[in-house]
Amino acid sequence: IPPERIRNFSIIAHIDHGKSTLADRLLELTGVISKTGKNKQVLDKLKVERERGITVKAQSVSMFYEHKGQRYLMNLIDTPGHVDFSYEVSRSLAACQGTILLVDAAQGIQAQTVANFYLAFGEGLSVIPMLNKVDLPTAEPERAAKQIESAFEIEADRILKISAKTGLGVEQVLPAVIEQTPPPSGSEDKPFKALLFDTWYDTYVGVVCLMAVKDGSIRRGDKIVSSHSGTKYEVMEVGVMHPEQTPTTQLRVGQVGYIVCNMKSIAEAHVGDTFYRDKFPVEALPGFVPAKSMVFAGVFPIDAGEFDRLNESIQKLTLNDSSVSVHKETSAALGQGWRLGFLGTLHMDVFRQRLEEEYDTNILITSPTVPYQIKYRDGTFKFIRTPADFPDANVMNDYVESTMEPFVTSTLIFPEKYLGSMLELCTAHRGELQNHTFIDESRVMLKCRLPMAEIVTDFFDKLKSKSQGFASFDYEEAGYDASDLVKMEVLLNGEAVDALAAVMHKSSVVVAGREIASRLKDVIRRQLFDIIIQTTANGKIVARETVKQLRKNVTAKCYGGDITRKMKLLNKQKEGKKRLKRIGKVDLPHEAFLTIVKRA
Ligand code: GDP
Ligand code: MG
Repeated sequence: IPPERIRNFSIIAHIDHGKSTLADRLLELTGVISKTGKNKQVLDKLKVERERGITVKAQSVSMFYEHKGQRYLMNLIDTPGHVDFSYEVSRSLAACQGTILLVDAAQGIQAQTVANFYLAFGEGLSVIPMLNKVDLPTAEPERAAKQIESAFEIEADRILKISAKTGLGVEQVLPAVIEQTPPPSGSEDKPFKALLFDTWYDTYVGVVCLMAVKDGSIRRGDKIVSSHSGTKYEVMEVGVMHPEQTPTTQLRVGQVGYIVCNMKSIAEAHVGDTFYRDKFPVEALPGFVPAKSMVFAGVFPIDAGEFDRLNESIQKLTLNDSSVSVHKETSAALGQGWRLGFLGTLHMDVFRQRLEEEYDTNILITSPTVPYQIKYRDGTFKFIRTPADFPDANVMNDYVESTMEPFVTSTLIFPEKYLGSMLELCTAHRGELQNHTFIDESRVMLKCRLPMAEIVTDFFDKLKSKSQGFASFDYEEAGYDASDLVKMEVLLNGEAVDALAAVMHKSSVVVAGREIASRLKDVIRRQLFDIIIQTTANGKIVARETVKQLRKNVTAKCYGGDITRKMKLLNKQKEGKKRLKRIGKVDLPHEAFLTIVKRA
């Protein structure tokens, strides 16, 4: 098939607007999968994707389609819908020339619709708008079409109205893609040049590289070179996703397909890398800015003896998700573990779920933090991934010029009647309002700058509850700014408990300090001496609680008489003590401790 009859396209949508369902219908329509009525999100391969109904890993599939008497090769590149994975979205888009912007006709434009539209628009793709779920009684296609017109300047009468569920109008989808998407540019006669945009590890063949061929062609036995590393590889297999890996004799200009070459580990496959034929170097395509970890959390085995097994599971999982960063971490209270970095909180949740399934034992995940930065007076910077890295009070006073935290620009879309509560929510989270506009008579789009730290915990839940589920939210990173940060520490009888330390904005310290002190007071059992719980910020005390000593002697019940009974009781007490975790000089039941450290 010549490049003129190839279309590389994707579907972008807000979560749940029906992207995976539409993909299923298109695969049925082109005979890639049979019409059994049982196909549910065929491209969502991971178990957690199916369970949570989100797409985590982009999948791609090739289909043939007859249009006006000609056979077309249609490459559908699936993209994740969630904001945490916008990095994966943009790299999938780099392999396409067009994209379907799918909008739920009942819900209308949502925050991720806007974010995804701008990603695609920025890549220079043709955007083909479609309204889905027109079968729903609550669908308001005219209204949603108007929103698309006013938000994206796309004529409303150009918008297809379909139902991916019932199949209504789905036969018009591929013709629209063919007519409105340009074929890939590039030349068969030029030397081979391909963009690596996805990679995974396959148990049978090893590292698989998904590539978009920009020029030339490639077949088994050819030698290719990575622009990034200069390493030479021999091509062992080429093929297309149909929907599984299906070998072909070659991959030609304009095609999207996979290449297996003799890469030893997935670390050699740099997403965004350009490959060329050995001895025919080409100018490299612009690569991707690597994904940045924005949310960090500590992961520890509850039973220290399980460290090695957990280590193995983490390694196995990160093999296919290079966006998770891994550093070893040791805590006096929790033992040996890891500091893992994620793209966002959903990414973290998905990883945790996969880890728990894979590993099948309880693990402890500490509450999430964001990467702070310290600027020293000598002009140097330091990243703070864990509270232990934060300078202590003396260093703060003598050497630190400023503390900085990451910010995001967020987009909120909601019905007008929630404007008041949404503004309140943003203000309460240290947000700085940028502007708000109406996308139709009664829907507001609000832009607000927020500290990243404010959205990693319960912001999203609050947003949903304050808007009765009607507000949607998306964000993009917006750099670092100076901010008054302090390290909060928790002391038990004067000794700091490392796992309870946290970095936070000065304004949160009093509330957070009091809360953790009173929660600790509730879980610490009385002992034979008073236990003083203190929380401090930059060395100053912000809250204090006391667990009074146990007055009654354990042997009091013995009336001084029976010595064996007394011994028995004392032994019992000793045994109980064994199960306690010693934190500082204070015995704290391990389970109680866990309930404090665990994320809310
Ligand atoms: P994704 O998150 O964009 O991939 O959305 P899914 O394809 O997983 O669909 C989300 C939910 O909407 C599922 O429960 C689908 O069955 C449902 N859905 C998808 N398309 C339609 C449609 O055209 N009509 C109706 N009524 N439901 C749909
Ligand atoms: Mg999906």
